[in-house]
Amino acid sequence: ALQNTSRAHDLSPSAGVRQIGNFIAGAFVPAASGRRFEKRSPLDNRVISSIAEAGHAEVDAAVGAARAALDGEWGRMSTEQRVSLLYAVADEITRRFEDFVEAEMADTGQPRHVMTNAFIPRGAANFKVFADVIKNVPTEAFQMATPDGTGALNYALRVPKGVVGVVCPWNAPFMLMTWKVGPALACGNTVVVKPSEETPNTATLLGEVMNAVGMPKGVYNVIHGFGPNSAGEFLTRHPGVNAITFTGETRTGAAIMKAASEGMRDVSFELGGKNAGLVFADCDFDAAVDGIFRSSFLNSGQVCLGTERVYVERPLFERFVAALKAKAEAVRFGRPDDPSANYGPLISHEHRAKVLSYYKKAVEEGATVVTGGGVPQMPQDLAEGAWVEPTIWIGLPDTAAVVKEEIFGPCCHIRPFDEEAEAVTLANATDYGLATTIWTTNLARAHRVAARIDVGIAWVNSWFLRDLRTAFGGARQSGIGREGGVHSLEFYTELRNVCVKL
Ligand code: NAD
Repeated sequence: ALQNTSRAHDLSPSAGVRQIGNFIAGAFVPAASGRRFEKRSPLDNRVISSIAEAGHAEVDAAVGAARAALDGEWGRMSTEQRVSLLYAVADEITRRFEDFVEAEMADTGQPRHVMTNAFIPRGAANFKVFADVIKNVPTEAFQMATPDGTGALNYALRVPKGVVGVVCPWNAPFMLMTWKVGPALACGNTVVVKPSEETPNTATLLGEVMNAVGMPKGVYNVIHGFGPNSAGEFLTRHPGVNAITFTGETRTGAAIMKAASEGMRDVSFELGGKNAGLVFADCDFDAAVDGIFRSSFLNSGQVCLGTERVYVERPLFERFVAALKAKAEAVRFGRPDDPSANYGPLISHEHRAKVLSYYKKAVEEGATVVTGGGVPQMPQDLAEGAWVEPTIWIGLPDTAAVVKEEIFGPCCHIRPFDEEAEAVTLANATDYGLATTIWTTNLARAHRVAARIDVGIAWVNSWFLRDLRTAFGGARQSGIGREGGVHSLEFYTELRNVCVKL
C-alpha cells in the first residue's frame, strides 16, 4: 500500500499496477478510509492503476492545506516570485516531458503524436502564458473631484479569490487541468484539483514537479475520486472553497452550480457542445476535408470543440462525403507507440456503450451509414479495448437526437444546404454554443458568417488553432464565463477598489 512518499508513482513499464495517491500539502498520501478504485487501460481493459479515493477527510485536509498556504509564504510572495516559480514549473514539465507523455498515453490510449505535438506542450505553455499575463497587466486608476476641491484617487488592487476548486474531465486531462491551474496560481490563489476518475495520472505527476521546483506545500493539491457522493461533490460543496472552475458535461455543470450557490461561490464553466462545421462551395476543398476530418475525429472524437454536425453547400455535397469517408476508412487503429497506427480507442467501455447507443439510434432514426457504425476487428491483444469505428451519417432529419445531442465520439452527420442564411440557421439550431468551423475563400462571407453563429469560438479555414491570450468559453449551455489571457483574471481575482481622499 502507498505510504507518504515523494513519488507520484512508479512509471517504469515493469511497475505493474501503479499505486496512485492523493497529493496533499506536498505529500502523496493514501485515503484514511483505505478505499481505492481501479483504472483500466482503454487499449485492452487491463487494470493499470489503483487509486486512493479521497473521502471527506482528504478533501478537508486538501482544502485546509490550500488555505494554510494562502496564509503562509505563498500568500506573501511578490508577483515576480510567483512568476519565476511558474516558469520553473513549465521548465520542469518540459524536462520530464517523456514522463508526462507516457502517463497520459497510459490513461487515454491516444497516439503519441497527439501527446507530443499538442496536449503535453500546451500543459507547459499554460504556466508560462499566465505568468506573462499577470506580470504585464496593469490595474485601473481614476482621479475624482470632491466638493472641497482636494479630490480623491481611486485605484484597483487585484487580489486572489482564495482556494479554487478545479474539477476536470478526461478527454485532454493535462492540457485542460493546467489551463485552470496556471492562471489560478499566477493570480496568487491555491488550488485543489479533482481530476477525472478516468485520468488520474498527469495531475498526480504534476505534484512531483511542484515539489521539485520548491512550490510551497499546499499551493497545489490533488484529490482523486468520482463525482456524486465522492471527491467531486465533497470538494464543490466544501465551504472552504472560494471559487470553482469546471470543465465537463453541461449536466454536471448544473449540479456543481447548485453546490456553488451555498456560500455564493463564483463559477467558471467550460461545458459540452454540438458544434457545426460549415463548408461552402467556394472553399479550398482539400483543406476543408482535412479540417473537418480533424475536427470530427481527432482524439477519437473526444474533443469538446469537435464537429458532430457538418453542413455542406449542395454542389459540393457528394464529393465532400466521399472524401471524408475515404479519410475515415484510412485510420489505423493501434497502440499509442505503434508506428504503423495513428488512431486510438475511446476512454472506457462505459463511454463506448454510450457512443454505440447513438450509433444504433442513428439507424433507428433513419440515417444512411456512410461508413463505420460499429466496432473494428482488433488483434487478440487489443480485442478487449474500447475501440469504435469513425462513423459518418447522412439523411437524418434536423430533429433527430443524433443531430441534437452531444455524443462525444468519432462521428458526424453531414447535411446539404443551399443558402448562406440557411447554413447559419442550421448551425444555430442547438441549445449549445461552444465552437464552429467555417470553410470558405470568400472573405466577406467568412466574417459575416462568423459574426452570426452564436458560439464562443468561430474558426475560419482552421480548427483548434489556439492563441492562449484570447477569450475561450462557450455561449448558451456551453459555458459560463471566459478564460484565457487577461480574461482569466476576471475569474481568478477580485478587484478591490481603494479610494483615497487627498
Ligand atoms: P463529466 O461532467 O462527466 O465529468 C467531469 C468531472 O466532473 C469529472 O472529474 C467528474 O468526476 C466530475 N463530476 C461529475 N459529477 C460531479 C458532481 N456532481 N459534482 C462534482 N464533480 C462531478 O465530463 P467528462 O465525461 O469527464 O468529460 C466530457 C465532457 O466534457 C463533454 O461534455 C465535453 O464536451 C466536455 N468538455 C468541455 C470542454 C470545454 O472547454 N468546453 C473541454 C473538454 C470537455
